[in-house]
Amino acid sequence: MTEAQDRHPFLLSTARPSHRQRRLAAAVLAALIAAMLVVAPFAHHRLSGTEILIPAYAAAVFLVELLTATLLFALFSVDRSRSVLLLATGYLFSGLLVIPWALTFPGVFTALGLHPDLQVTAAIAAIRRLGFAVFVLGYALSKDRKPRERIRGSLGKVIMGRTALVAGVVSALVVAAFLRADVLPPFMRDAREVAPLWHYVPAASAALYLAGLAALRTRMRSTLDLWLIVVLGTLLIEIILISYLGGGTRLSVGWWAGRVFGLASTSLVLLVLLSETTTLQVRLARSVRSERLARESRLTAMEALSASVAHEINQPLASMITNASAGLRWLDNDVPRFGEARSALERVVRDGHRARDVVDGVRNLFKKNNRERVPLDMNRLIARVLHRIEEETQLGRVSLKVDLEVGPLPVTANPMQMEQVVSNLMANAVDALSSVTERSRIIRVMSRSLEGEILVTVEDTGPGIAPGDRHRIFDPFFSTKPEGMGMGLMFSRSIVEDHGGRLWVSDNAPYGAVFHLTLPSSILPGMPHPGSDR
Ligand code: ADP
Repeated sequence: MTEAQDRHPFLLSTARPSHRQRRLAAAVLAALIAAMLVVAPFAHHRLSGTEILIPAYAAAVFLVELLTATLLFALFSVDRSRSVLLLATGYLFSGLLVIPWALTFPGVFTALGLHPDLQVTAAIAAIRRLGFAVFVLGYALSKDRKPRERIRGSLGKVIMGRTALVAGVVSALVVAAFLRADVLPPFMRDAREVAPLWHYVPAASAALYLAGLAALRTRMRSTLDLWLIVVLGTLLIEIILISYLGGGTRLSVGWWAGRVFGLASTSLVLLVLLSETTTLQVRLARSVRSERLARESRLTAMEALSASVAHEINQPLASMITNASAGLRWLDNDVPRFGEARSALERVVRDGHRARDVVDGVRNLFKKNNRERVPLDMNRLIARVLHRIEEETQLGRVSLKVDLEVGPLPVTANPMQMEQVVSNLMANAVDALSSVTERSRIIRVMSRSLEGEILVTVEDTGPGIAPGDRHRIFDPFFSTKPEGMGMGLMFSRSIVEDHGGRLWVSDNAPYGAVFHLTLPSSILPGMPHPGSDR
């Protein structure tokens, strides 16, 4: 891939032609050659009175070439290459010259009082043909230049400047041809037949087209190059039909056939360029959309993460505030109770560490080693969490029933993340029980070793989960608590699933909810395999 293709893989001037495009281009050229051979025997036939078709033909050529120029200017505005600008200028030049060519064509606009010199139309035709061929050759020769030669500056100014320059040159040439018709080369013998001198024009044009074809053929890289080869091939066929098979006689079958075939094929080229541009634009729009979606989902993930960080940090912070206030109260006592104050402060320090651990854990999410897993005993981890929330359960007058598997429950996990999961389930159970007044508030934590996995359940005698909410409680931001953020369960499930486990909820009979957590069991070094000590 060239540097330009790397930079603009979607542009006509850089995108590689597909096999289908190559086949279509070859088919168009083959069809034109076949059409030329069919017409050849009748090429000399005169079609008198067909001058009236000249304005329609000229208008069509003008439109097609102007549209092609516009498309190429648009391409230039992105690609900024000198070669594409040159080609656009060539099309504009050729398109603009068609108007005076038609206006001066003998016998067409006589009603308008136009009686130009016989040689004017032929001179314009010669300038148009040779000029366009030079522009295309210039494109072919300059297109592989290094990007540093790309045109910079205001696009509007460059394009307007070019258009004004071409319009100026075309007008000057036409005015000069009108004013100094006496010095124009004698290309025409009469209104219909060319003089011998004219034959230099098709010969020179054909030579330029062939040079352009050779240059494009050897440097063909883009879709645009491919279709320019078709354009030059068409122009060559047109010239053969008009000047050689038709003998240069105006309005003969060969003359008209050359023009009509030329127009048909340049229109086809324009259509292909337009459809290619649309296709490329659609592809570009699609890739922009998928990029935007990816960015949005990244943003959502970031938002979810920030919310969960706040959630996870709020828990120890709330506990720190409670303990610090309690410590102050112990110290403010008439007889300060240093022992109690000290324990409260110790709990503040412990919670501070926990908050820091959460921050570290989140930071770790973005580190390469965020997937760090260590062998650990799930029972010990549960015991640690239970110890930490002991106070909360006492405050909430909740009785804890612990039924852990005898012996260790080895898993390979991230200890900090797993602690977050278990303490989140516990905190939810305590919250759920806070509304219970008419029955005992019980949380039962159980752990078991099953076939190849460990199971931890946390059940409570709270209000349970409404059937309609069952699917939503694991969604981010779903919360039924006034201060809840609704991130805990989402975060917990994603951690557990990340560890190859599952987290789900079911009803507890007769009241409350049961959260089930499974993780693949592993063998801890120096520990017996789960179940082996039973
Ligand atoms: P939060 O605790 O901030 O609300 P969670 O994601 O931890 O966020 O929980 C989401 C919701 O799930 C809670 O608001 C609550 O409605 C429901 N929920 C969680 N655990 C329990 C439980 N043990 N009993 C009843 N409802 C629960």
